[in-house]
Amino acid sequence: MVRILLKGNVKAHITDWFKSFQSLKNIGTEGQTSAVPKKLIPNSAEILLPRIQKDSQSKKTGSVIPPLSALKPAINANLPDITRSFKDLENGLLDVFNNNRKWANSVRLQDKKFFENLANNEQQPKLFWIGCSDSRVPAEIIAKLGFGEIFVHRNIANQFKEDDVNCMSELEFAVHNLKVEHIIVCGHTKCGGIQNAYKEYVLRKNLKFWLSDIRKIKDSHPELFPDQITESKMNKSEIDAIHKKLVSVNVINQVNKISENEVVKEAWKDEKRKLSVHGWVFNMENGHLEDLYVTRNK
Ligand SMILES: [Zn+2]
Repeated sequence: MVRILLKGNVKAHITDWFKSFQSLKNIGTEGQTSAVPKKLIPNSAEILLPRIQKDSQSKKTGSVIPPLSALKPAINANLPDITRSFKDLENGLLDVFNNNRKWANSVRLQDKKFFENLANNEQQPKLFWIGCSDSRVPAEIIAKLGFGEIFVHRNIANQFKEDDVNCMSELEFAVHNLKVEHIIVCGHTKCGGIQNAYKEYVLRKNLKFWLSDIRKIKDSHPELFPDQITESKMNKSEIDAIHKKLVSVNVINQVNKISENEVVKEAWKDEKRKLSVHGWVFNMENGHLEDLYVTRNK
């Protein structure tokens, strides 16, 4: 297993790792905002309610509440209309509510007890996902999993920091309460956090601090991650390839930090406990999840 740490012999580790990752390629771009509704929806539930009542009379479901994993409609219900954009909504946020009611009603038409079951079952996800906050990388949709399947933490550039109480409390809850079996750190190509680690001079103080670990990795390997002047002479695909390398190294760095964390190490003391930490990258150009094969089991 190749370990990449911020301190010590980082350079040798990263160089070794890259020898086995020369095939990593690149890709994509970003963007946008809104207005507040002046009135609430008439009551979209009234529009669709008759159909639901008719449906509920025609189908009789059992009284046994199924596990969350059996809520099949959730899979389709989670998939977005990819042609829909907020800027195309005539009534702005009002249409967000209208669309939400239509969606909820369409789910109930498929399974009238869907939301009842959702509310009456405790979550039992097997996956804890640490991904980027980027609006283009929603965990459940990328993984094509439904409600109750993934416990999610997202932040800029999918980072794990032990002094981040938010992420640490989620890790504790995921590992010790939910007893997840997989912790997945998922980076992505075209990551703005990675790209901005190159441009700290344009960043405000909090973002600059947040991205400082990534910048340290980049600065300690000028042979892999050229400075801005050198990069400005490169073509787009060369720059994308370099950014993707940094995306991957950043993911591996988080996998190692999580694996060395006391919360995870404590769980690994129980030999019967199934718990793995994985490093993945979502390739935005083709929609594929790529495994970096850096899984740690102890
Ligand atoms: Zn990102």
